[in-house]
Amino acid sequence: MRPTVTDALFLGLLKSILGEDGLRYSDAQKVVYASDAYTLEKSLPGIVALPRTTREVSELLRACHEHKVPVVPRGAGTGLAGGSTAGGDAILLCLSRMNQILSVDLPNRRLRAQAGAININLTKAVASEGYQFAPDPSSQGASTIGGNIANNAGGPHTLKYGVTVNHILSLQVVLPDGEVMELSTEDSGYDLVGLVTGSEGTLAVVTEATVKLVKTPDSVRTLLVVCDTIDDATAMISAIIAAGILPAALEMIDKTILQAVEAAYKLGLPTDAEAVLLIEVDGVEAGIDRQAGKISAICQALGALRIEAAKDAADRARLWTARKKSVGTLGRLTPSHCTQDGVVPRTKLPQILREIAAIGIKYRLRIANVFHAGDGNLHPVVLFDERDPEEVKRVIAAGGEILRACVNAGGALTGEHGIGIEKRDFLDLVFSPDDLDAMAKVRGAFNPDGLLNPGKLLPFGGTCCPQLHQPETEAMLRLTKTRAAAV
Ligand SMILES: Cc1cc2nc3c(=O)[nH]c(=O)nc-3n(C[C@H](O)[C@H](O)[C@H](O)COP(=O)(O)OP(=O)(O)OC[C@H]3O[C@@H](n4cnc5c(N)ncnc54)[C@H](O)[C@@H]3O)c2cc1C
Repeated sequence: MRPTVTDALFLGLLKSILGEDGLRYSDAQKVVYASDAYTLEKSLPGIVALPRTTREVSELLRACHEHKVPVVPRGAGTGLAGGSTAGGDAILLCLSRMNQILSVDLPNRRLRAQAGAININLTKAVASEGYQFAPDPSSQGASTIGGNIANNAGGPHTLKYGVTVNHILSLQVVLPDGEVMELSTEDSGYDLVGLVTGSEGTLAVVTEATVKLVKTPDSVRTLLVVCDTIDDATAMISAIIAAGILPAALEMIDKTILQAVEAAYKLGLPTDAEAVLLIEVDGVEAGIDRQAGKISAICQALGALRIEAAKDAADRARLWTARKKSVGTLGRLTPSHCTQDGVVPRTKLPQILREIAAIGIKYRLRIANVFHAGDGNLHPVVLFDERDPEEVKRVIAAGGEILRACVNAGGALTGEHGIGIEKRDFLDLVFSPDDLDAMAKVRGAFNPDGLLNPGKLLPFGGTCCPQLHQPETEAMLRLTKTRAAAV
């Protein structure tokens, strides 16, 4: 019989692996782990485990495998799809203490870090030498490299530099039965690094990663383009890319967000504009002003109200604060918010933003937009109060309608936040039962008992693995039923 995670014998085993200091049992301690940044899914884990070494992770996974106890990996819990939420019968395996930069090899432009290292600390470790780790999710001050790998995180500079998988050289992973493996992009055969990256903690636990470093660009020009209407802003985005220019970043921030950021940080942002574009070009000094000039000319021709260029590094940081701190400042406007992550072809941006506005009106919800416009990766942020169950139902229904609209526009369910629990039941909008079955077979090859991050990424139905249909925690099922009723 499967033990409960708090069985005395099993607990004794966990203590022998992690020590008393590596475990959290009380509700007061566990409550901070009850959700990630997708706060609509909440559930207290059975136990929180905080390992310090790969060996501890391996021994813990072996014990859980032998006793058939589910395990949910977690980094910083900044995920926006409910991916690192665990039920009461599961261990939440939080890698935040495994946060060391292990080695830096500048001649070969690579860095090795433990999975719990915070993204920004990778760049901080090499910035003085003129290098950086390019993937820069807006959560980079908190999110971990392990979480970035699991979700294949992007960021404002993804437009030019690519997503996390483009910057990973090798991974140390622990399989659900405790076996430790090193996977490398230099291995022949299947690209297992590519497979694990983006697998949302359902195939293996990442414990270390070797990442590529890129040179910090010689020169950067950052522009803030103030737009009279959302349509003007989206027309500029398409025109810039159509002109053959590849900015390093091309972000859009709407009026609601601008007002919240300005109230919090007093950055001198235009609070009367409907939207601004934050556009950055980088590279060698020669020619960079010409590129920035071309972008300005396109925006002016399409009706920009005004264009501000960052005067120096401090001014650039001011403009980026407007983007990177944007979602955090929404707490001034609303008790709760929920960020969607659909993708559409860039040319469909005007249409989809109109549809999102209409969905907001239909469900009586305020929806703000701040997103990676250059690659059509939307982040509509729905403002609401999670203490109001009727409003929560409308938020879930509106979220589903936004995802359907993205798919109908020829887009995808997620750009970078992953499927998690939030979008799991929408996968059949884009994948056939055969597709889902094939994915379940891949998962089954790594995670045959379905014990690693159960109930995430793949829907209950349409899989080949009967164990994935097993009831999970009561809390998870309750949430799923609430969701199904609302959608
Ligand atoms: C304000 C804000 C801004 C954001 N901006 C961006 C953005 O620009 N781009 C973007 O891509 N995302 C963004 N996100 C989402 C989130 O920060 C990313 O998905 C990030 O990669 C999650 O990292 P984490 O360490 O918090 O992982 P968690 O939230 O703890 O976990 C995320 C997923 O990864 C799995 N996981 C975590 N660690 C491991 C591991 N070591 N091994 C195996 N699986 C693991 C978990 O099981 C879960 O499925 C943002 C979030 C917030 C709150």
